[in-house]
Parts: sequence; structure tokens; C-alpha cells
Amino acid sequence: MSLLQVEGMGKSYNSETKVLKDINFEVEAGEFVSIIGPSGAGKSTLLRCINQMVDINEGRVLFDDSDVGLLRKKELRKLRTEIGMIFQHYNLVPRLTVIENVLHGRLGYKTTMQGILGQFTEDEKERAFYLLQKLGIGEHAYKRCDQLSGGQQQRVGIARALIQNPKLVLCDEPIASLDPNASKVIMNHLKSVASELNITCLVNLHQVDVAQEYSDRIIGLNKGEIVFDGPTHRLTNER
Ligand code: ADP
Ligand code: ADP
Repeated sequence: MSLLQVEGMGKSYNSETKVLKDINFEVEAGEFVSIIGPSGAGKSTLLRCINQMVDINEGRVLFDDSDVGLLRKKELRKLRTEIGMIFQHYNLVPRLTVIENVLHGRLGYKTTMQGILGQFTEDEKERAFYLLQKLGIGEHAYKRCDQLSGGQQQRVGIARALIQNPKLVLCDEPIASLDPNASKVIMNHLKSVASELNITCLVNLHQVDVAQEYSDRIIGLNKGEIVFDGPTHRLTNER
């Protein structure tokens, strides 16, 4: 059974326009898949439907064999620990330190801003440091996030997504705010840490060349429909 199965999924935010139409695909555990397509194609919406940040209108999404549309509140919280998310604008808390931001990811939405480090066990802090070191920003652990460069901040975003040991990470335009060098660093880290920890990645990108360089498989989305789904080399040949 695949880790993720999307079956006949349709989504509209209002009654007039369908943002996603009859989306069908499966993702196996361990795959690194890029979703490409122009702005407005529906890439963000697709990721948000998978972790139920938005409701879907048609079809269903099965994650690890359960229909995410049928989950109750408690199960939905569990789903959110199993599916990490990385955003274009990092979505960090700027006044908090790097390590606090990473651990904050473990607490969900209820946390107060005070005394974050005190709420964690040594094991949890150790795992946070381990991830930061792996991502090459261990020495910045006690800096405030707003003192870091964009590329460093995105590495904090990656560590925060990975701290809960998710099975799947959804990355919504993770490099769209970064220069080409920082983008390379982020894609290399994402790829190597995902492969080492055996985490499946679905990455929205609008740069085809980046998708070709880093992913095993590409899904092309245009106007809410899948227009390509296959191994990366096939996209090259067909163009
Ligand atoms: P992409 O990530 O490929 O740029 P999006 O999923 O962000 O595409 O957007 C797809 C379409 O859905 C766009 O036409 C966008 O304006 C619309 N859309 C996205 N979010 C919302 C929303 N919250 N409410 C209404 N329309 C939305
Ligand atoms: P991006 O290019 O990063 O996808 P957008 O500018 O498309 O960003 O969207 C930014 C936010 O606005 C998102 O939360 C999206 O859901 C919302 N949004 C986008 N299009 C619409 C729309 N037509 N109506 C309402 N909200 C929208």
C-alpha cells in the first residue's frame, strides 16, 4: 500500500471555479517528488488538501491507509505530526531563538511564548541540536531567527518540520524567496536529510530545472489538472 493515495480529488474555494480537478496519484514511502506548474496552477492548494488545512470537495486522500477527510480532531492532530510542512516564507517566530522555533514545532498551536526550552526533555533538545547540526546551523542555535539569512531561516524551517519525525514532508515553494546559491543549499539539505531519515517529500517548485536536478519524479500541474506524472528523465525527453 502506498504512503499517500489521492483519488479523484476536486477542490473549489467557491462555487464558480474548480481549483483542482480529478487529481489522481500515489506516492510511495521514500519518494522525493516535485510538483511543478505556473503560479495559480493549484500547487499550494494540493498540499493543503493533503494535510487537511483545507477541506476537499470531491474524491479522497488516503494517508497511511486512512481517509484524512474522515479523521476526528484527535486523529487530525496525529496526522499533523506525521505530515510536516515547510513554507516559502519560513513561518518562524522571529523573536524566538532557532532552537525554540524548532522545538515549538512539537507543541502544536497551544504554546505560550514563554519558557519554551523548559518544557522539553533533554532528549528532545538533543534531537533538535542533532537536526540543526545536520543542517549546518548548529552554531546558531541560540540566535534569534530574525538575525539569520533567508537560507539559514529555511534550514530552521526544515528542522522544525523534521523534529516530530514525520513520514511525509510537504514543501510549499521552499526556495521561492531565496537566491540561487541559497536555493542549492536548501535543496541539497532537504534531499540528503530526507533520504537519511527515510522521509517522503512532496515539493512544490516553479523552477523546472531545480525539479529536474533534485527529484526522482515530477508531477506537472496546470489549471488544476495533472498534465504530467512520471520519472524526471521522461519530462526531459518529451520536451
Ligand atoms: P499555486 O500554488 O500553484 O500558485 P494556488 O493553490 O495558490 O496555486 O492557487 C490556485 C488557485 O486557487 C488560484 O486561482 C488562487 O487564486 C485560488 N486560491 C488559492 N487560495 C485561495 C483561497 N483561500 N480562497 C480562494 N481562492 C484561492
Ligand atoms: P502564493 O503565490 O505563495 O501561492 P498567493 O498570493 O497565491 O501566494 O496566496 C497567498 C494567500 O492568499 C494564501 O493563503 C491563499 O490561500 C490566499 N489566496 C490566494 N488567492 C486567493 C483568492 N482568490 N481569494 C482568497 N484568498 C486567496
